[in-house]
Amino acid sequence: MTLHRDRDISRESLIADLRAALGKGAVLTGAEIGARHVSDMSATGTAPPFAVLRPRTAAEVSAILRLCHSAGQSVIAQGGMTGLAGGGNPTANDIVISMELLRGIEEIDTVSATMTVKAGTPLEECQQAAADAGLFLALDLGSRGSCQIGGNLSTNAGGIRVIRYGMAREQVLGLEAVLADGTVVSSLNKMLKNNAGYDLKHLFIGSEGTLGIITRAVLRLHPRPAAIATALCGLADDKAIITLLRRAQAELGNVMAFEALWPDYHRHVAQILDVRPFSDDHAFWVILESTAKADDVEAFLAGMIEEGVMQDCAVAQTEAQAHAFWSVRDGHPVDDLPNIVNFDVSLPIMQIGAFAADCHAAIKMRWPSAHCFIYGHIGDSNLHITTSIDYGPGEDMHTVDDLVYGAVKAHSGSISAEHGIGSLKRSYLHLSRSPQELALMRTLKQALDPSGILNPGKVI
Ligand SMILES: Cc1cc2nc3c(=O)[nH]c(=O)nc-3n(C[C@H](O)[C@H](O)[C@H](O)COP(=O)(O)OP(=O)(O)OC[C@H]3O[C@@H](n4cnc5c(N)ncnc54)[C@H](O)[C@@H]3O)c2cc1C
Repeated sequence: MTLHRDRDISRESLIADLRAALGKGAVLTGAEIGARHVSDMSATGTAPPFAVLRPRTAAEVSAILRLCHSAGQSVIAQGGMTGLAGGGNPTANDIVISMELLRGIEEIDTVSATMTVKAGTPLEECQQAAADAGLFLALDLGSRGSCQIGGNLSTNAGGIRVIRYGMAREQVLGLEAVLADGTVVSSLNKMLKNNAGYDLKHLFIGSEGTLGIITRAVLRLHPRPAAIATALCGLADDKAIITLLRRAQAELGNVMAFEALWPDYHRHVAQILDVRPFSDDHAFWVILESTAKADDVEAFLAGMIEEGVMQDCAVAQTEAQAHAFWSVRDGHPVDDLPNIVNFDVSLPIMQIGAFAADCHAAIKMRWPSAHCFIYGHIGDSNLHITTSIDYGPGEDMHTVDDLVYGAVKAHSGSISAEHGIGSLKRSYLHLSRSPQELALMRTLKQALDPSGILNPGKVI
C-alpha cells in the first residue's frame, strides 16, 4: 500500500516537472490518452501508458529524457504505430513519447540529392516532397500513409523496393538521436562517403527505440524513374520464380520490385477482390516491376513464356490495373479472418521453396482447417506467412510461433527480415543470433542505456 502511494506521488511530481518543461498541452494523462497509444498493428498491446508526451523539438525530447532518466522512468517512443512486432506497445507503468508533432521536412537539397526531415513525418509526405522536387525517395511500404520516418529507421524497414535500393538503413546519410540521459547526438551528415571513425547512426537504425530516440534524419534521394512497367506473371512452380528473378535482373535490368504469391494466398485474395488477370489457373503469381523501356519489358516477358519459365503474363496498361495487381499483394481481405498471426522471416534464397513447402505442410497437418498464406519479396530473401487458425485447447499464437520459427532455424533463416523483434519475437531471438552476438547487444544496451529506461522488454 505504502509502495503504491510512493509510486503515485513520484509519478505526480514527474508529470508536474514534465508539464513545466513542455507546457500543459504536450502532456496527456488518463482519459486524454487515445486508444491508438495502446497497441501497434499487431493488436497485442493491452494497457494504455500512464502518460503520453508530445514533443515538438529535439530539445523537448532531451528535456523529457533528462527528467525520466533521473526518475528511473521507462519511456516508449511511438511513431505511426503501424509496427507488427509489438515494439511500440506500452505497459501501464510506461510513459509514451509520441513523435507526431515533431513533423516536417526541413530541407530538400537537390544538389546533394538529400532530404532533411523530422522523425515524426509520415513516409508518404516525404515521398511526395521528393517527387515534387523531381527526385525519388526509394523507401516504400504498404503503411506509407501512417508510418513515420523515425519508426521506419528504428525498425530498419524494408518494403517493396529493397531489391533495387536496399533497406531503410541504405537510405540514411545522417541522423540525430537523443540518448537515454538526454544528450542530443546530432550527426546530420550529407556525404555518401564519411569514414571518420564509427558510423554511429547504425546504433539507432534497427534498434527499435532501445538505444536512443531518433529526432531527425538526412535521407538519400535518387533520380526519379521515368516510368515503371508492372507485370503479373503466372508460373507453375517455385523453382521458376527464382529463374524468372535472376533472368529479369540479368537480362532486363532495373527490377524495382519482385513479389511472389503462393497458391493459397492469391486464390483467396484475388477471388474476394475479383481480380482475374488470367484465363487459366496458375500455381504461383509474381508481380514484377521494372523501369526498363516498355518494349524491352514486353519482349523479355514474351521470351520467358516461349522458354517455358512462366505460363502467362499480364502487363498493366493503366495505373488502375497496376493498382489492382498490387491490391492482391496487399491482401487486405486476409485481415478479416480470425486469429491472424503475421510472420516476417528471411531464408537463404535457395531454401525459400523448401521452407515454404515444409512450413505449409506442417501447419496443415496440425490444423487441417487452417489458412496458411505465403507471399514475399523473394529477391531480398524475405518471405511473409500469415496464419489464421482455430486453436485447440491450450494452444495460442505461440504454438504456431514455435512451429514456424523451428522451421526457420532448420532452414538457416532469420526470425525477422524487416519488421523487427519488438516484444513478440524477443524469446525467439536466440534462434537467429549466436550467444556472442546477444552478449554484444547487451553490452551496447548497457553502455547507452545503463538504467534500462528506453523501451524495456523489447528486442533483448
Ligand atoms: C499495411 C502494412 C504494411 C507494412 N509493410 C511493411 C513492409 O513492407 N516492410 C516493413 O519493413 N514493414 C512493413 N510494415 C510494418 C511497419 O509499417 C514498419 O515496421 C514501420 O517502419 C513502422 O513505422 P511506425 O512509424 O509505424 O513505427 P511504430 O510502430 O510506431 O514503432 C515501431 C518501433 O520503432 C520505435 N520508434 C518509433 N519511432 C521512433 C523514433 N523516432 N525513435 C526511436 N524509436 C522509434 C518504437 O518504439 C517501436 O519499437 C507494414 C505494416 C502495415 C500495417
